[in-house]
Amino acid sequence: MKISTRLVHGHKGVDKETGAVSFPIYQSATFRHPGLNQTTGYDYSRLQNPTREELENTIASLENGTTGFAFSSGMAAISTALSLFVPGDHIIVSDDLYGGTYRLFEEMYKKYGIEFSYLDTSNIDNVKTAVKKNTKALFIETPSNPIMKVTDIAAAAELARSSGILTIVDNTFLTPYYQRPIELGADIVLHSGTKYLGGHNDTLAGLIVVKNEELAARIKLIQKTEGAMLAPFDSWLILRGIKTLSVRMDRQQKNAAEVANWLRSNNNVERVYYIGLEDHEGYEISKRQASGFGAMISFSVKDASLVEKVLERIRLVLFAESLGGVESLITYPMVQTHSAIPAEMRERLGVDEKLLRLSVGIEAAEDIIADLEQALE
Ligand SMILES: *Cc1c(COP(=O)(O)O)cnc(C)c1O
Repeated sequence: MKISTRLVHGHKGVDKETGAVSFPIYQSATFRHPGLNQTTGYDYSRLQNPTREELENTIASLENGTTGFAFSSGMAAISTALSLFVPGDHIIVSDDLYGGTYRLFEEMYKKYGIEFSYLDTSNIDNVKTAVKKNTKALFIETPSNPIMKVTDIAAAAELARSSGILTIVDNTFLTPYYQRPIELGADIVLHSGTKYLGGHNDTLAGLIVVKNEELAARIKLIQKTEGAMLAPFDSWLILRGIKTLSVRMDRQQKNAAEVANWLRSNNNVERVYYIGLEDHEGYEISKRQASGFGAMISFSVKDASLVEKVLERIRLVLFAESLGGVESLITYPMVQTHSAIPAEMRERLGVDEKLLRLSVGIEAAEDIIADLEQALE
């Protein structure tokens, strides 16, 4: 079945017992045992919960992995994945990445003795030369946030595999609807479900999908032991969001292409970063490894003094953190999502005082453009 069909129908989909078309919210912390040493398959919601399980099975199937896990936020999912490693391990990380991930690595896991190297993974040679004896994982964000650099997932995973290293991909920006890293050789896929999967800017969630049972057992142990799982109601909201993922993303992508082209023609815009533009450095790789370009655009204005004006004047497009929802949002990475990244590193990447990031929503493209036009005047 096509992925757009599988998105709508989930794993079990309809509730077997009642025929409910909307999968029930099992708002129960605990489950009655039929007898000694007997279980219905559910004992306590930290271990298993039917609604969370439906979401976990749905995302596992969409990503073509063996097992899925749902967490209370994207950061909780990333933190869980990082708990696979021990002091002395080394991890190679895409240098242009979500600021919260950088903070998690630098402020938390470095303290526990894990070593990180940040480099441009869109150049595989960089990765090759960074591999050391104690390198245990390659952590990739592609397209990257906010500069939209594209890493060749298959090439990176191939290199990692030949060195006995796990490949972990944060797939938040493209979702399994457009890109499935496990099919390209990755071992673990991560999501902030808060973004496109939820899609309505109303729920925080995180997801992990692994490609084999061995990793599944290790992640399951961490999930049930640490306890950062997703609540039943929030699991239901993400399941509901996933049903409309294909129509939302197709519309958002169509809008994004129009907005990106329009931005390029604006005199106050210096540079536009959108992987769907044919002259984008990662365009060809994107076409090969993904079936869509998504709806995330970054752009730099000609003069830094314009930023404050734009953020003040913008009306329809909301000046707010986050991305992926039906509402178009604009953020200022330097002071918001990427404030945790050291100035020197930000400058090198181009995350500077002139850069704005746009998550294009499902509104009419002409209205989004009209709003940007009056704000950029
Ligand atoms: C938002 C985001 C995260 C963090 O997810 P939360 O749900 O906010 O905890 C991680 N990675 C990427 C790429 C994100 O955009």
